[in-house]
Amino acid sequence: MDISVGQKHLVVGVDYTHDGLGVAKIDGRTIFVQNLIIGEEAEVEITFVKKNFLIGKISKLIKKSPDRIQPLCPVATACGGCQFQHVSYEKELEYKKNKVLRAFHNIAHIDIQAAEVLGSENPYYYRNKTIMPIGYDRHRKLIHGFYKARTHDIVAIDQCYIEDKRSSLILKTIKELMTEYSLTPYDEDTLKGDIRRIMIRTSFYYDDLMVVIVTNIEKPVNFETFISALISKHPEITTLIQNINGEDTNVVLGSKEKILLGEGKIKDKLCGLDFNISSKSFYQINVKQTEKLYQKAIELADLKESHIVLDAYSGIGTIGMAVAKHVKNVIGVEVVKQAVIDAKENARINNIKNVKYYEDDASDFLVKMAKAETKFDVVFVDPPRKGLDQKFTETLLEIMPKRIVYISCDPATLARDVALLSEKYTINKLVVVDMFSRTYHVESIVQLTLK
Ligand code: SAH
Repeated sequence: MDISVGQKHLVVGVDYTHDGLGVAKIDGRTIFVQNLIIGEEAEVEITFVKKNFLIGKISKLIKKSPDRIQPLCPVATACGGCQFQHVSYEKELEYKKNKVLRAFHNIAHIDIQAAEVLGSENPYYYRNKTIMPIGYDRHRKLIHGFYKARTHDIVAIDQCYIEDKRSSLILKTIKELMTEYSLTPYDEDTLKGDIRRIMIRTSFYYDDLMVVIVTNIEKPVNFETFISALISKHPEITTLIQNINGEDTNVVLGSKEKILLGEGKIKDKLCGLDFNISSKSFYQINVKQTEKLYQKAIELADLKESHIVLDAYSGIGTIGMAVAKHVKNVIGVEVVKQAVIDAKENARINNIKNVKYYEDDASDFLVKMAKAETKFDVVFVDPPRKGLDQKFTETLLEIMPKRIVYISCDPATLARDVALLSEKYTINKLVVVDMFSRTYHVESIVQLTLK
């Protein structure tokens, strides 16, 4: 069959991709359709034709799934932030579990029989961190929002339904004040403009609230008056930082920062412990679910008082400190300098004496530990999406801790790494934790035990 852009075809949803698109078939060819639910019948318009796949959009829903719900967000489809606002939460969790099981099947060739899924009590308004670009719409009105999927076009929003509600109010004021004080948004093509992005971090347990204004240059005209007005309109802001990023880059924060209000950090609580968090340190974005994640990780670690534990990719030290009271010693390693400074301070404020944090690349550090013949009973790893590097997995196989608890935000790299570790380790348990509700992102924990 000759298939071309603009044609309309009847399809049935049969599957989902790893990034949450619906999958259907036309004449044996695969078509990806946003928002198509498994079992649904729809007329789709072809929008893109490639050799190996097609892309289409729903033009008419013919048989609606009982799992379909009305999205809370009016721009849920246009915005690149959420993928599951149109599906019941129960089905989203099912998708997430299958996504992880499938990654293990396809990548690691391991079939896991059972996985526990820890869903969230409230899958909305959970994000404690917002990073929003500001730009102009067609009428040169200031807008903020997520980038539309696979583009750098901002989809304007008034409010984001997965973020802390306080963030939306502050962003609204920032746009009003930018207009009032003639501050311009950064233009990625011309590399000109005053304000690049706004980052807001809210504390879940305390009233702390951090705003970081990322500017293109150090002294935009009217910037000081703009900041004073913002602070007086939002007394809930406890710390305000100007971050200067003049580079032609997608990286949000530049190296230079000025603290304009407060201490440049916020305090939050996890598993009963206090944590100070700086702008550049990683902090889990869903506090309630992080507590479940850590509790489960601790349970899977089966800790003993005599244990020496490694917390690799330790961030501000949260996992290690949650673990500390159960074991003899914890050693943490983290590559971001400020996060290590935060971790050390956090150990001090919680009066935890049996933890030590090191600033290093996790793999280099593990090699050094192996050379020094340091033995770990349990190793927690919580790497970024790209997973562990080969040097890390090889060294783990050499030093052979009794147990590895692998926390991952990317099932594909998790499966790849577990396949390597399976030479000497058995997978005992897999737990999926829904940290990123209404999006396709999945967090999971795997318990590995030395054979
Ligand atoms: N365990 C922490 C942080 C997890 S996020 C928590 O639960 O909050 C992953 C962390 O790995 C980030 O803090 C990141 O800065 C750090 N990281 C990234 N690459 C690294 C590397 N090569 N070596 C050590 N740490 C690294």
